Amino acid sequence: NSFGELNLSRPLVRACEALGYKKPTPIQAACVPLALTGRDICGSAVTGSGKTAAFALPVLERLLFRPKRISAIRVLILTPTRELAAQLHSMIEKLAQFTDIRCCLIVGGLSTKMQEAALRSMPDIVVATPGRIIDHLRNSLSVGLEDLAILILDEADRLLELGFSAEIHELIRLCPKRRQTMLFSATMTDEVSKLVKLSLNKPVRLEA
Ligand code: AMP
Repeated sequence: NSFGELNLSRPLVRACEALGYKKPTPIQAACVPLALTGRDICGSAVTGSGKTAAFALPVLERLLFRPKRISAIRVLILTPTRELAAQLHSMIEKLAQFTDIRCCLIVGGLSTKMQEAALRSMPDIVVATPGRIIDHLRNSLSVGLEDLAILILDEADRLLELGFSAEIHELIRLCPKRRQTMLFSATMTDEVSKLVKLSLNKPVRLEA
């Protein structure tokens, strides 16, 4: 099993090679082909399992074939902390290095003005903490989620533990109903199960 066999395009396989990845981890081997079919996914996966590339690679693959005319956020990745968001953003930029796909980081603690400019420049992927992206969506006339194709809830248990439930519900309401959603969580608590019911449509369950 290799990245080439996962039905990924050449620029993505090259990026994996450049990062020194020899073969997909188990969660990647399971998640990539499923995500490429458009199914919703509920993954029990911890940091270190390779879950970031497991969801990022199919997202990038789908964006390679996006209609160029659409100038709106296509993919939103929500994660609980600034540090995790920064790591995700950097990982995605590395995986996207041989493509023209653009990813921006929207977190607290950075200049709102610069982030607004970044959002207006029409990134394909937004990696965000829930509070800050909601501020932008509430205050902006030009940036919305109406063309969102994929929503990713990363570290769902921690998102809920940190009290982001209301923000996540509000964000889900702003997303189109027809979309692909992937949720990853280290633990499957009752609260996470409720969020799974609310946000995913007939999800496939994966464990790593
Ligand atoms: P993650 O679980 O996504 O936080 O990834 C943990 C670490 O594993 C990161 O440093 C990744 O760069 C690395 N990694 C991800 N996928 C692979 C792979 N297929 N082979 C080797 N390392 C990987």
